[in-house]
Amino acid sequence: MIDEARKIRLLMALRRSGITDATVLGAIERVPREAFVPENFADQAYEDRALPIGLGQTISQPLVVALMTQALEIAWDSKILEIGTGSGYQAAVLAKLGRRVYTIERHRGLLEEAERRFAALRLHNITTRVGDGTKGWPEQAPFHRIMVTAGHAGREPPPALLEQLHVGGCLVIPMGEDGRRQWVVRFRRTENGIDREELWPVRFVPLLPDLPDGEARAM
Ligand code: SAH
Repeated sequence: MIDEARKIRLLMALRRSGITDATVLGAIERVPREAFVPENFADQAYEDRALPIGLGQTISQPLVVALMTQALEIAWDSKILEIGTGSGYQAAVLAKLGRRVYTIERHRGLLEEAERRFAALRLHNITTRVGDGTKGWPEQAPFHRIMVTAGHAGREPPPALLEQLHVGGCLVIPMGEDGRRQWVVRFRRTENGIDREELWPVRFVPLLPDLPDGEARAM
């Protein structure tokens, strides 16, 4: 009951901050964020802030999740790739909107926790893999939509991600050269090439290459 009131307050704040897409607000309403944060932070699940999920990683702030999701312009039949599963929260929101979500995480421990949450919430249209998401998921490509939820250092997105994008599809990725401000950038693949749009400044934990030391390679 208390969570419901907090959730409604958060949804109203998201709407005031420019989340006008009712399907995006509906998806956020239907995913219990408290199930994706550590127990000792459960009372803060509906505050508009990022929270720690272990291994130095964070579950993104709800407004950032909402803005990135809205920017992705998901259709009900979209096949979506997410890089950086983390807690699994963003993947769960995407799974409410598209047909199927493929999500990649480099930390096996985080991924296993996220998988348990997907099963408990009966989110059966999410497929997971441990690996380096900068390489995409070639066996499942092309994707209608791709979202990266870690900050990519560089001027151009990882080439594999643009290659695995369907014509007409888009990639939303926080990126920026080292030491510069990060921006969420949207790339659209058209018949003629790639269009690029800088959307808004952000701050994300880094997108890192390869797997953490000591974790077995799965790809
Ligand atoms: N989407 C998550 C938040 C992600 S935090 C959520 O909703 O909770 C960023 C995540 O990206 C971290 O878990 C980090 O381990 C992961 N990550 C960083 N670089 C990666 C890479 N190259 N491939 C896959 N995952 C990566």
